[in-house]
Amino acid sequence: MRRAVWIFALAAFAICGVFAVEAESLPVANDGRLADWAAVLEQRSEWPQKCRLQSACAFDIMLGGVKKGAMTLPKGTLVEIRGVSGEFLQVSAAGLTGSVHYASTDLASFMKLPEQEESKPAAVPVVPDGGDVAAAPLPPYQVLPFGDIKPDGWIREQMLRDITSGNASYLEKMRPLGAPVTPGSGRGYGEFEGNFADAIIRNALLTGHQPWLVWAKRIADFLVAQQDEEGYVGRKRPADFEDLADKEGELWGQCCFLRAFLAYYEYSKEQKYLDAAVRSVDFMISLFGKDKNKYFVGESTMEGGARAHGLMYIDVLEKLHQLTGDKKYLDFAFRLYGDYSNSINLKNTDHQLSSLLDKNSLFLHHAPHVAEHSRVVYWLSTETDDPKLKEAAANSLSKLKASLSPSGGLVTDNKILESVGGNPGSPDLRYEYCSITESAISMESAFQKLGDPATAESAENIVFNAAQAARFADGKAAAYCSKDNQSQAAGDPDSATFRLQYAACHRIACCVYNVNRVMPYYVSNMWMKTGDGKALLAAFYGPSVLNTKLAGTEVEIRQQTLYPFEEEVTMVVNPAQDARFDILLRDPSWSKETRVVADGAEQSRENGFIRLSKQWTKGDTIKIQFAPGVEVKTTHGGECYVKRGALLYALKFDHSSEATKKWEGTDFANYDTRLANKADAGKFSDSKFPPEPVAGSPLFTYSRNPDASARFPFDTPFGFIRGPLLFEGKPVDESLVPIGSTVLRKTSFGK
Ligand SMILES: [Zn+2]
Repeated sequence: MRRAVWIFALAAFAICGVFAVEAESLPVANDGRLADWAAVLEQRSEWPQKCRLQSACAFDIMLGGVKKGAMTLPKGTLVEIRGVSGEFLQVSAAGLTGSVHYASTDLASFMKLPEQEESKPAAVPVVPDGGDVAAAPLPPYQVLPFGDIKPDGWIREQMLRDITSGNASYLEKMRPLGAPVTPGSGRGYGEFEGNFADAIIRNALLTGHQPWLVWAKRIADFLVAQQDEEGYVGRKRPADFEDLADKEGELWGQCCFLRAFLAYYEYSKEQKYLDAAVRSVDFMISLFGKDKNKYFVGESTMEGGARAHGLMYIDVLEKLHQLTGDKKYLDFAFRLYGDYSNSINLKNTDHQLSSLLDKNSLFLHHAPHVAEHSRVVYWLSTETDDPKLKEAAANSLSKLKASLSPSGGLVTDNKILESVGGNPGSPDLRYEYCSITESAISMESAFQKLGDPATAESAENIVFNAAQAARFADGKAAAYCSKDNQSQAAGDPDSATFRLQYAACHRIACCVYNVNRVMPYYVSNMWMKTGDGKALLAAFYGPSVLNTKLAGTEVEIRQQTLYPFEEEVTMVVNPAQDARFDILLRDPSWSKETRVVADGAEQSRENGFIRLSKQWTKGDTIKIQFAPGVEVKTTHGGECYVKRGALLYALKFDHSSEATKKWEGTDFANYDTRLANKADAGKFSDSKFPPEPVAGSPLFTYSRNPDASARFPFDTPFGFIRGPLLFEGKPVDESLVPIGSTVLRKTSFGK
């Protein structure tokens, strides 16, 4: 009865905007705020209570009773009130625990949801059901089967060095947290093992490195062998699938393995691997498909994040849909996304449809979830003509871009570690390596699905800048969290600051396993086909070899280049038989005048692409000459930074490294790095960008480093951008270098 009165009171307030309630139930101040919430709330015996905020609300982030930060929770955020303490509501929201000062908060903010947790307020949009989806137009581009594009030149050299002498070569033995990385026998939810399996399989197949090829086959065969009669493949079959929704990350663990496994199938083309994946997914559809249990709905609110990662099972469904054309995978993807979107028990809700349709709020939650979930929406938006999903995809992309640092890192909050926290992109905020990898893959997907060349530029920005800046060039260590502006990278291995170290393996190892996934995905997206399958598109540049079928013949195209370090790309086109087809070349926005020489080809320009049409003969060449200039760009905070072509430049500081943990019997270690020269601390904090240059004189000029290595171009800075910076008000000639060749650096400068 009391509950009914309370709900009535809240509803009345929300609807009328005035407080009209029975005097005995709610002591209210004249301004419409509650004078004594505690008196009201203590009447309530059942915690927690779930609410959806009806207006924005100030939120203090608390850790161990100490205020760690504050943020505004936007309208629509799902909140769980866990109790009352003094003048505060104890609340969990946005994956965080905190408190809300109730005396200064509109009661309407905490309007109770209707009794049934799954019923949604009328304003929350409903994800369409795959079964009702009208035939959508083809996405602009098609991905090619895994293995059709292989790395060459410096990219292959880097991949090979990483897996033979980088930390990846020893990761299996480091066994962080006691986690064995042998697939299927793992601790936890299988993310580490699955992502490492993905790195092993993709690097092995693309480089042809023999020991890893053997390992890759062992992993694929292991998965087939351990599949049970119902089709289950995973870390450990749960005793009770009915109860699965409350467990951590079953679909997430499966997803990480199956992504790797399907790459192995695409490459080997052995039917038994595809059959095993189909049986595995069919089993999950029988458990969580239409009219079955919902995966994301359950009793527990404080899930650890692995359940929301389970949405990435849609990566597997997308691949199977592409391989088989069977609509059941698409239907299940819509089902999972609808289930995720409607759940009020998750803590990573930035990609719920209702959150995405609010285009004015930036992402709040755990950055890797944000980065990976975005491509779920990119895909589904191309498989429906529902305008809501198209709007959601566009909003997801613009929110994602708004929170990228200059190097392309998806920033996280200083206090709310690992969560975007509503921050716009900043060179002074950290980004997590997991989000680097996932953002790069999502931007590659966005380009393929949505066709905007700007997304391809975002992807290459991440791959050549953030992904290189957050690792040692030699592949022996990587940072869990790094920044574009960092004057040290050191932390206490026993506290949360372990994330700041460049380490062979961190205490939590998600990030080190993701380092070696970046390049294989980038390489695999270098070439695409147009939606009709008739033309080839060079989406990304770099030394590589493509082998595909087009216009009835086998076609090989070799990209010979030091891109992005040099501005020329030579393509050698080798069709098995003469054939007429078009090749589209992406023309980067940073290239002032791209010149293409292809004998006998008709050339036309269209929306950021150059189209070449001709009858191709073995040995034909395409010579592309980009014209990058030194570009000065501005951060959200109004600071300047410098790019040339696809590379971001930074002021590099010499550093000293101290090994705080050595991995026995190896040369691997976790490092604290600090400035080698004390004077650089002043440079880090005080150097500024010069005022406008004198007319006619170039402010910054580029020159190639004569000592640069064509084999490992990040080892030594490949080139320099020289120009004046102001230090303590006086001009000082400085050289900026590619951020991927630095550990400690300053990338942005105030004016
Ligand atoms: Zn991570």
